[in-house]
Amino acid sequence: MIGNMMFQPLLISSLIEHAVIYHADTAIISKNTDGSITHSSWGQIARNSKRFANVLQSFGFTVSDRIATLAWNNHRHLETWYGISGSGLICHTINPRLFPEQLTYIINDANDKTLIFDKTFLNLVLSIKKTLPYVEYFICLDGYDEKIQTAFPEVLFYDELIEGQSADFEWPELDESKASSLCYTSGTTGHPKGVLYSHRSTVLHSYATCLPDSFNFSAQDRILPVVPMFHVNAWGTPYAAAMAGCSMVLPGPMLDGESLVQLIDEYQVTNALGVPTIWQGLLTAARNSGSQLKSLQRNVVGGAACPPSMAQAFKDEFQCETIHAWGMTETSPVGVINQLKAKHLELDESEQFQLRFSQGRPPFGVNIRICGQENSNDELPRNGHATGHLQIKGHWIVESYFNQFSHALTEDGWFDTGDMATINQDGYMAISDRSKDLIKSGGEWISSVELENIAIAHPEVDMVAVIAAVHPKWDERPVLIAKKSASSQITEDKILAFFTDKIAKWQIPDKVIFVDSIPVGGTGKVLKKDLREVYGSVLLAKE
Ligand code: ADP
Repeated sequence: MIGNMMFQPLLISSLIEHAVIYHADTAIISKNTDGSITHSSWGQIARNSKRFANVLQSFGFTVSDRIATLAWNNHRHLETWYGISGSGLICHTINPRLFPEQLTYIINDANDKTLIFDKTFLNLVLSIKKTLPYVEYFICLDGYDEKIQTAFPEVLFYDELIEGQSADFEWPELDESKASSLCYTSGTTGHPKGVLYSHRSTVLHSYATCLPDSFNFSAQDRILPVVPMFHVNAWGTPYAAAMAGCSMVLPGPMLDGESLVQLIDEYQVTNALGVPTIWQGLLTAARNSGSQLKSLQRNVVGGAACPPSMAQAFKDEFQCETIHAWGMTETSPVGVINQLKAKHLELDESEQFQLRFSQGRPPFGVNIRICGQENSNDELPRNGHATGHLQIKGHWIVESYFNQFSHALTEDGWFDTGDMATINQDGYMAISDRSKDLIKSGGEWISSVELENIAIAHPEVDMVAVIAAVHPKWDERPVLIAKKSASSQITEDKILAFFTDKIAKWQIPDKVIFVDSIPVGGTGKVLKKDLREVYGSVLLAKE
């Protein structure tokens, strides 16, 4: 017997419809590429998304055609998202920091029919346009600009395109399992692979991320997704915000600490989300400016391990609660989030803080396990000690990659993440490392993340990375790459002494290399592969 309840497909268009009916006047504040601010609202975003859907329809696209965006977090980009996915097309967000050859590869691999881009990427688009045979339309996300038109005669301007269009558009009643958006992995560990999200997976992921034990979004929040919309859909925040009725501040291209502090203070942001490198810059800028970040109640740190010293600084200096989360492109991205349970409130503050270092536990809809071998099903105990290959399954977890017909799963249906982790009795998962970043020293594993967490707590370093360097006796030994803070005279010996009593002696790095900058990839994560290429043999040279 089938239940007697209504069936409504879970569609992205239903999110924007909800926002326009119940949160039409809720503010969407957006920084444009020229630094100016546009004040919009969910009502205005919804109307323009329908105008843009009419534009796309007039181009004659059919369901599941791919429309690419190469843009920062701003109101026009948000409008195109809902216009594209709402009308049944697939929104392919592209990371502009990829190499031009990689951009060409993924645009052609996705067979994108239109490329929408922010003004800042004009030269980039011009430089690759000849290599994109399938792209029929190029749309600049701005008003008419004579200079751009001269440089790029066939370009169309977004504001002009939507201006004459009706704000009436009937969102199609799609099958909820239809594809809605496409995102390629950021490629920190290999060739980018496409992950194709569905309307259903996106809406269920939004429900999960809004929960109090997740990002805890409500209609009283004003959120600042610093994480770019091209990085796993800004962790799904533009969808979750429409669902919860949050106000949003979209930071545009200026992601430096000073700009973010200014946005938080001026627009009273309550919850901001980004990768650790962003927060490092923000903490420095807030301290320098004397800002108290008064409105900021919570910040979500994910994409790479959140150093405990960072969470401590937010708590002690800014009374801001740091929520640590883990995920990946293949998991939409939220896999686990760290929030305490009632029983943990009885622990003392330092024990609570210790618990919050881990990446957290899954919301309903996702399940995790650790296994002894990669892609196997030999599950290890959940005792907080056994370290194994982290696997995941759930409503918003990838099944197979775009354009690749084989499944990406283990025989019994789990996705192997490539991360190494422990899980404790309460289901809290702690990442030890990416399996390829772990350091194997004389048969024993050393976690680069653990060493980085210690080093970054030193007041005289701004940024660190630990890599495995080849060693003639021990196979691999840890080497610390560090960027000193301005005017610091810190020496290698002093940094190494800082590890004493914080970790077993044999795990202390063999060497410290000071650098002016540490390479980060398109999503703000340290490119350890590049560091290994440059410094991976440094201990051999010494012998
Ligand atoms: P890429 O795989 O190219 O780096 P993703 O953005 O999908 O692209 O990155 C996912 C990976 O980032 C995870 O597999 C994990 O190694 C790392 N990661 C994400 N969040 C965290 C976190 N909170 N702590 C440690 N590592 C994390």
